[in-house]
Amino acid sequence: MYDIVIIGAGVAGGFIARELSKYQLKVLIVDRQNDIGNETTAANSAIIHAGYDAPADYLKGKFNASGNAMFDIICEELDVPFKRIGSLVIGFNEEDRCTIQKLYDNGLKNNVPDMRIIERDEILRMEPNINENVCCALYAPTAGIIGPWELAIASVENAMDNGVELQLETEVVGITKVNNGYIINTNRGEIKTRLIINCAGVYADKINNMVAEPYFSIKSRKGNYYVLDKGVNLVDHVIFQCPTDKGKGILVTPTVHGNILIGPDSEFVDDKDSTATNADNLSFVRETALISLKAIPFNKVIRSFAGLRANSNINDFIIEEAKGAKGFINVAGFESPGLSSIPSVAKYVVEMIENMIGGLKHKDNFNPRRRKVICFNSLSEKEKGELIKKYPMYGNVICRCETVTEAEIVDAIHRNGGARSVKAVKKRTRAGFGRCQGGFCGPRVVEILARELDKDWTEIPYDSSKAYILTEETKNNQQDRKQ
Ligand SMILES: Cc1cc2nc3c(=O)[nH]c(=O)nc-3n(C[C@H](O)[C@H](O)[C@H](O)COP(=O)(O)OP(=O)(O)OC[C@H]3O[C@@H](n4cnc5c(N)ncnc54)[C@H](O)[C@@H]3O)c2cc1C
Repeated sequence: MYDIVIIGAGVAGGFIARELSKYQLKVLIVDRQNDIGNETTAANSAIIHAGYDAPADYLKGKFNASGNAMFDIICEELDVPFKRIGSLVIGFNEEDRCTIQKLYDNGLKNNVPDMRIIERDEILRMEPNINENVCCALYAPTAGIIGPWELAIASVENAMDNGVELQLETEVVGITKVNNGYIINTNRGEIKTRLIINCAGVYADKINNMVAEPYFSIKSRKGNYYVLDKGVNLVDHVIFQCPTDKGKGILVTPTVHGNILIGPDSEFVDDKDSTATNADNLSFVRETALISLKAIPFNKVIRSFAGLRANSNINDFIIEEAKGAKGFINVAGFESPGLSSIPSVAKYVVEMIENMIGGLKHKDNFNPRRRKVICFNSLSEKEKGELIKKYPMYGNVICRCETVTEAEIVDAIHRNGGARSVKAVKKRTRAGFGRCQGGFCGPRVVEILARELDKDWTEIPYDSSKAYILTEETKNNQQDRKQ
């Protein structure tokens, strides 16, 4: 019997698991996907917001700035890419100036440090590519950019290094309340646990309704994005427009890996799993982004994608014991700024559990640090040479666009919570993230996965366990080969 089962291995479930791994508890994370951080955590703006947006009396307002302040230490411990580059909310008229003043005042209530309202000349000195009719901006230097799925993967790996268990491809289909806890029914059998933490993203309402009163609902709100190739020097800060009732609007930002990200729009969709992009919505993103900047080289687009916000009817995070289900905690409606708030939210959830259980015992041997990930491309020529001499697999470049070596891919497969699909390798090493989008390295990654996992090539999926790339050999005997 587990003390706690966490449903969902996105950034919420992953980070809470890591926080719980500090204590003497038997913890399991389950996820229906074949990788960590494969849903909303894999498709968002990747901004660690400063925290001036949400009203101070909302949980979103309460947890954002405090979460933001924890990222330097966390990302250092977990070896996750994070840069505190600051953000600008830019305004073009008096109405925007009023909005910016309100954001500033709200930021003060939310304890956001060091914000300033700045004027046209300073803005254009900081960001020469911004449209010259800009008049003012809210500058928040504490805003940052992060690798969001890297954060989830690193959190789960560190949690597992500290004793937490992970079961992927395990879909929760029902939950039964029993005397001393719950029985969770999954496609892989029953799991017994004292407590449950529901971090199921857009499906958190469905999981809640399996055992508790259906007191909230979640709709998917889709956002489409463009990604520009590396080497486009467009902006140095996160550039927002003034927010509307649909959200924070279209942003233009560098990513931690040196690309430019542009998006997202906002549209409710009926299909909770649909992450397909839409040409009309992308056109809207394109046109709206051009309000912020003088010119954007859209001929440098290498990819578009879409993510799904878990938008609840309550319009705030739902972080509480579910109504009518003792020991069942919802971390639901966890849309933006969920990523920015998670360090603070995780501590809050652990406090809730401490109160429920009546005290938690620390582990003496908790290790907060994840083993460093070697990124060959970022090393000096001397370091590269030394590494190749010691481990020749670093001399075999698999992804030419991002210079990812065989040794990095093998390492990504064999870590706790390691890669099992081509996309999982991509998320961990960036093989396939470059200009050719995996056209060249894809088959080599399949080959390495099959070899390291002792599987047939046909058993290696691109993404989900059903997304197979190869189905059978086409030339499986001498005669076929001659034809
Ligand atoms: C367009 C967009 C932009 C955003 N931008 C930002 C931003 O810049 N900054 C910021 O702070 N936040 C941002 N967010 C919000 C942020 O991405 C989310 O708060 C965060 O990723 C949510 O993580 P999660 O773990 O709750 O959900 P998810 O990552 O979706 O994880 C939920 C997991 O639950 C699993 N699951 C679901 N049902 C079941 C089941 N029945 N059985 C087992 N497992 C199940 C899923 O497989 C999934 O892995 C953005 C979101 C979107 C969509």
